[in-house]
Amino acid sequence: MENPFDNNEHGNQAIRVIGILEDAGLEAWLVGGCVRDALLGRPVHDFDIACNALWSETKTVLEASGIHTVETGIAHGTLTAISKGTPLEITTYRIDGAYTDGRHPDSVQFTRSIQEDLARRDFTINAMAWHPTRGLLDPFNGQADLHARTLRAVGEPEKRFMEDALRILRGIRFASQLGFAIDQETASGMRAQASKLDLIAAERIAHELEGLLCGEHVHGALMAYADVIGRVIPEITPMIGFDQKTKYHIYDVWEHTAYAVQYATPEPLTRWATLFHDISKPSTFTVDEEGVGHFYGHAHEGIPLAKRAMKRLKMSPSFIERVAMLVRYHDCPTIPEPKYVKRLLRKLDGDPDLLRALCSVKRADSLSHAPAYRSGVAHAQAIEDCLDLILRESQPFTVAALNISGKDLLAMGMPQGPHIGAALNAMLEAVMDETLPNERAALLRFAREWWSKRETEIKQA
Ligand code: ATP
Ligand code: MG
Repeated sequence: MENPFDNNEHGNQAIRVIGILEDAGLEAWLVGGCVRDALLGRPVHDFDIACNALWSETKTVLEASGIHTVETGIAHGTLTAISKGTPLEITTYRIDGAYTDGRHPDSVQFTRSIQEDLARRDFTINAMAWHPTRGLLDPFNGQADLHARTLRAVGEPEKRFMEDALRILRGIRFASQLGFAIDQETASGMRAQASKLDLIAAERIAHELEGLLCGEHVHGALMAYADVIGRVIPEITPMIGFDQKTKYHIYDVWEHTAYAVQYATPEPLTRWATLFHDISKPSTFTVDEEGVGHFYGHAHEGIPLAKRAMKRLKMSPSFIERVAMLVRYHDCPTIPEPKYVKRLLRKLDGDPDLLRALCSVKRADSLSHAPAYRSGVAHAQAIEDCLDLILRESQPFTVAALNISGKDLLAMGMPQGPHIGAALNAMLEAVMDETLPNERAALLRFAREWWSKRETEIKQA
């Protein structure tokens, strides 16, 4: 077989390290995700080597050849070698002992057999090994499954998911990233063991969900496995099959969401926000006398639901806040003129990247409406064009961009305290409204007038 790692500098380093290990009488293979991705012609992001030696022996051999090593996971038999800047994880062949907690093997046993090491792996496409001269080792027909675009558990599916329920989400994540179908028996095994996901650490679940959401084929994965995803994010469950009863939509809330996620730029922020953008449609639903559905206040009402789900998944507080802002403003009407776009920017913490993300969510949302109601796409584009203009012209939209500072106000005689911030905000509002130029003299004049008015009010009170 041809070298699937051809023309890959990191792959060449991995092959070099395998050569060094084997010259010392050991046996080593490239294994797992890197073999899968190389055979698919996808970019390989990490190289894993499996070796029949214990880490201490591997370390001695490599260091003797001048290769630096780091003891990254020796409890599981993993050593990281750095070959010409390329990090390579080298793990001793192992068999996992019994799993009694549904997430960790009770013990890890090292073995001399690569076949046994491959048998502990999750899916057939992840259970192949490749060697520069011995070629592909594929005891579970992973290559046939790659060709058939199928995800199939190694061994008895239900047992494998019972051992480690994270594999359930890994499988759906691979379906989303690769566009593969999950073999029927494997999918039934996932469903049968989905309750075991409750045992898995929130951070690991969030990590897999993020990969799933950012996948190229996410619509299909969200549609096919909504029930399993609802196990880890129960807040989504009411959206599934929820009829919107409006001409603006041809899909139920969940399928609309699944399309929107697919259309949003493939980055965690936009994908999570799009997943949650209509989360409170079911709870805010009303029907008028004509039988038409409405969802008044759903964007605002969605904030606590989205936050609750993300907190449970132990996502970072700053990320949660950003997602919540996108949920909050996903359907806010904005006139695409600098004055209004700058106001929106202010609501988004003055962060242009957050506004770009909002435009992506708005575009994705609109693209998932009924065909006659997709004008939001052009509208989102107009807002983004306007943002570009604002940035190009360095138009001010933060207090820091004013040509005056708090110090100037103190020097002018204004007392220390909340008035300073209030005065700066009033100036920014006027500058953004284009009723006040961002020039020092004009700003000072404005501040003086503002303060004398405020001082009178205070005295009268
Ligand atoms: P990617 O790196 O693209 O996320 P991957 O398949 O390489 O995908 P890793 O987490 O890097 O995933 O794991 C490397 C390999 O280890 C996998 O290909 C698989 O063979 C094995 N593996 C990882 N996690 C599990 C698991 N939970 N159960 C069984 N085998 C696993
Ligand atoms: Mg990997």
